[in-house]
Amino acid sequence: MNNKTEVSELGCVGIGTRLVWGGEKVRHPYNATQTPIVASAAYGYDDIDVWYDVALGNTPGFIYSRMSNPTVAILEDKICELESAESAVAFSSGMAAISSVLNTFLAKGGRVVSTRDSYGGTNKIFEEFLPRMGVDVTLCDTLDHEAIEHEIALGCDVLYLETPTNPTLKVLDIRRLAQAAKRVGALVVADNTFATPLNQNPLSLGVDVVVHSATKFLSGHGDVLGGLVCGSGELMAKVRHHREINGASLDPFSAYLIIRGMKTLALRLRQQQRSAQALAEYLLTEPLVESVNYPGLPSHPNHDVARSQMRGFGAIVSFVLRGGMETVKHLLPRLRYAHRAGNLGAVETIYGPARTTSHVENTLEERLALGISEGLVRVSVGIEETDDLLADLKQAFEYTKEQLLKSEQSNFIPVRTECRTEVEI
Ligand SMILES: *Cc1c(COP(=O)(O)O)cnc(C)c1O
Repeated sequence: MNNKTEVSELGCVGIGTRLVWGGEKVRHPYNATQTPIVASAAYGYDDIDVWYDVALGNTPGFIYSRMSNPTVAILEDKICELESAESAVAFSSGMAAISSVLNTFLAKGGRVVSTRDSYGGTNKIFEEFLPRMGVDVTLCDTLDHEAIEHEIALGCDVLYLETPTNPTLKVLDIRRLAQAAKRVGALVVADNTFATPLNQNPLSLGVDVVVHSATKFLSGHGDVLGGLVCGSGELMAKVRHHREINGASLDPFSAYLIIRGMKTLALRLRQQQRSAQALAEYLLTEPLVESVNYPGLPSHPNHDVARSQMRGFGAIVSFVLRGGMETVKHLLPRLRYAHRAGNLGAVETIYGPARTTSHVENTLEERLALGISEGLVRVSVGIEETDDLLADLKQAFEYTKEQLLKSEQSNFIPVRTECRTEVEI
């Protein structure tokens, strides 16, 4: 399928429309209107010459589903529409996508520059796997753009960015850092999972390769794992070759679920981020809360950068509870409309402490070094009514305060701190 034609055909259409129709112009067997799940490991040919031509890639077609599959190909075309990319490659999970991209573009003696804050699994690749393969990894203080630029200027093969970050919602200036990378000829990779293509298009900000965990907002229902990578045809040919051999391909059943979920991304996320803003503003006024992280708050340290590169601020909010784990253990079980789980981006609201979710693999010391305190809670705001989510959180805080006052072990008393009220909506 020619991704380029699809981009030009739907490129000027609104993103909500592209989410529904992008990649879907293929005629299906039986005139089915929905993408069929093509559950076949291999594709048969009577004509041996045609078979050979398809196998060589000279004629379009399918040979073996580790290489390519008709259902998966439609998903790949859809993400191309949304990120205005020439080509895309789907993987069995976000981590399969990220590790394959890093393995494609880095080799022994190479160097990658990134930040300390990144998804826990990505961080493990940087700390554990890449050094073992002889790749030099430099992780900078996430908010110190000058330090990141300095490290890039020393020379590197890959600059790896994730913004907003998990779970503290730090925002990196993509344009600025991509420019620094271009000066030394480095490839720029960005994880766009938190923002989604609805809010941010890294390719238009100077990034070369975009990665997504489709497990999160893209699929949106917490019922499937998947990863997507997109960029130029030339770069994606290399990533695709890597996937053909390492075998981290997406299966057609999962591809179908992701396609189905993506059609409603705009409706879901617009509602989710309206509620996220409301929850973040409420949390600022809550005495038991020490700090709130949300790029949509004017008090966010990089609110202006977020405004300049994002169309919306996303549906993830995090906050630090006074009293650490003790407070977390009172508050979280009390919530009615919430899963307490490690996932994010689903239609249900999900709460989880960083200690047991994004940074479960780190020791207490490592977490503290990363600025992740034991009282840090991440909320993935769902599609429930905003007022219900607010009421639920308020009643849980009231209950928690009563419990803390009752508790003899509690060695701190919640005090009302100064809070910002001039929040813009
Ligand atoms: C979840 C996540 C990943 C990993 O994706 P999986 O599908 O779980 O493998 C990578 N990056 C970010 C930002 C994530 O939230």
